[in-house]
Amino acid sequence: MRVAVLRERRAAETRVAATPETVKKIIAMGCTVSVEAGAGLSSGIPDAQYAEAGAEVAADAAAALAGAGLVLKVRAPLGAGEGEVDELALIPRGAVLIGTLQADKAMADAYAAAGIDACAMELAPRITRAQSMDVLSSQANLAGYRAVVEAAGAFDKAFPMLMTAAGTISAANVFVMGAGVAGLQAIATARRLGGRVSATDVRPAAKEEIKSLGASFVGYEDEESKAAQTAGGYAKQLSANFYAEQAKVVAAHIAKQDIVICTALVQGRKAPILVTEAMVASMKPGSVIVDIAADAGGNVAVTQPGQETLTANGVKVLGFTNWPGRIPAAASALYARNLLTFLTTFWDKEAKKPAMPADDDIVKGVTLTRGGAVVHPSLASA
Ligand code: NAD
Repeated sequence: MRVAVLRERRAAETRVAATPETVKKIIAMGCTVSVEAGAGLSSGIPDAQYAEAGAEVAADAAAALAGAGLVLKVRAPLGAGEGEVDELALIPRGAVLIGTLQADKAMADAYAAAGIDACAMELAPRITRAQSMDVLSSQANLAGYRAVVEAAGAFDKAFPMLMTAAGTISAANVFVMGAGVAGLQAIATARRLGGRVSATDVRPAAKEEIKSLGASFVGYEDEESKAAQTAGGYAKQLSANFYAEQAKVVAAHIAKQDIVICTALVQGRKAPILVTEAMVASMKPGSVIVDIAADAGGNVAVTQPGQETLTANGVKVLGFTNWPGRIPAAASALYARNLLTFLTTFWDKEAKKPAMPADDDIVKGVTLTRGGAVVHPSLASA
């Protein structure tokens, strides 16, 4: 089977779906691999390294995709009119497409019409068996780390307490909002840098996790928040009353913070606004807010997705999108391993091609289209 790896063309996308390490392993599974020229450059991987690993380096997307039975992507392929190349039209009928496709019904219909079996890895269930192929976790982990490092870079003071002959610099107060995968890594990173760290979340389980990392918990809890977690482990959308009470607690705390890292998401919805304009205005000049939730609209009222903003009172708000893409070499390495694990888990060694049992929970979770039809429950009936 021929496996194609494309250069990602969507805005601000710096990652690549396979690395020389995973290419070697895919070849060992009995495949040939063609990598589009320049695919790894923004992750620090020159074409020569793919060639050394045994891949063919193809001049363009058309050459990479010719005859491919499997296509590995980070983001959804470009469709007609979306950019320089209609990647979707170049994918052979019958091919399996694997990526973080973020597909709506129209996109899924287009995959079905093109005869592509599309797998959206971001929809994999958050179960133990799927952990090593969990692209949301691997990427969120790095985003949480990167957010703190960039906050430290944008902050004009220091994170740790510094006792010097010239006097003492006090430790930075760091507040992490949302203690899922990204938030927990942000807590750990900010602690390692010497910050005084507190964090909040709505899921009861998160409170213990925050404390176990040595941060203090700040938050509002009531009867409603005891059931704030869905069966899948995500936060539920809560009542307006809960959010109003939570905002009171946050407002009092945030005015004393130097750094705020926002990571709160509610699956399938716009990110909740947790930091109002008034809260930003209450912060000291020179404070830094990093809004990792900017891809989903942001947790901060003044976030401009994709941009850094300086507010009237001198607070920097980093609203960049695609935070994993800001640490591309590491993000690509982990993402590529996630895809490799998915492939090896659902691989027919005899036939040397994917074997995805339709009744497997992981396969069910990620499969958008199969045999020319949209099959994912969230899209099939939409
Ligand atoms: P996420 O990215 O959907 O959300 C980030 C965090 O924001 C969550 O902790 C959520 O509770 C929090 N949040 C939502 N609304 C909030 C609000 N108003 N105020 C404060 N915080 C708010 O979450 P995630 O990082 O993808 O993790 C989701 C869950 O999946 C977690 O329970 C995690 O432990 C679990 N998980 C399980 C596995 C596994 O077992 N394989 C792997 C990864 C994650």
